[in-house]
Amino acid sequence: MRIIPLKAFHDNYIWVIFSPDGKQVSVVDPGDSRPVIKFLEDKQLNLSSILVTHYHNDHIGGVQQLKDRYHCHVYASKHDNLGFTDTALDEGDQINLFDDSYSFSIIHLPGHTMGHIGYYGHNQDGQNLIFCGDTLFRAGCGRMFEGTPEIFYRSLQKLAQLPENTLVYCTHEYTLANIAFAKSVEPHNRNLLELEGNCQKLRNQNLETLPSTIASELKTNPFLRCSEPDVIQAAQQATDKRLSDPVETFATIRRLKDNF
Ligand SMILES: [Zn+2]
Repeated sequence: MRIIPLKAFHDNYIWVIFSPDGKQVSVVDPGDSRPVIKFLEDKQLNLSSILVTHYHNDHIGGVQQLKDRYHCHVYASKHDNLGFTDTALDEGDQINLFDDSYSFSIIHLPGHTMGHIGYYGHNQDGQNLIFCGDTLFRAGCGRMFEGTPEIFYRSLQKLAQLPENTLVYCTHEYTLANIAFAKSVEPHNRNLLELEGNCQKLRNQNLETLPSTIASELKTNPFLRCSEPDVIQAAQQATDKRLSDPVETFATIRRLKDNF
């Protein structure tokens, strides 16, 4: 599956999925129609569908213009009730793109917003990938706008349990800032220091640090490491309350990140 990013706003990526013959594309979370239209016109491509993870404007701002112009099919969360939706999706649903060439299973990922969904795709050659919007970022996670720590933690655990080779396509280039926070939680995590070096090199060349993999996130992302002693200790130092489970650790480090 060929996938490339289009840059939007300051640090958003609109992911473009190509059909096997390369003539059609789908886009994920087009917060702005302009970079998509420019890309489609430059490359003489047709937009066949749009995948939406959640209703925030930097993810949907371009959807209606693109739908009006290209008459593409729009997939979005059933929970978000967005007027442009052609197929409303929820946990366990499956969609097929480009005449059934690619299939995606829908995973409900409440926490950043309550209706948030992820698109978990499977390739013919055994490669798995997920478009997870603002739920999981490289070395971080989205802000908890609507969920509770328990709800958000459960969503992150769903992602943690995907096959380790799953490619993780997030919507924002927040990686270096996330790593700076992650280092404050786990200053001795060698994987994190190595990741920082690699991502710094990519950013110096103005390249994206994505996609990540579940394997990499399990080694470096503090929000997926709430049972690790160093993460628990960092959280415990920040609160008078005795932390008794990973959800409380998650809630504490999420709050620390908000104020970092
Ligand atoms: Zn969002």
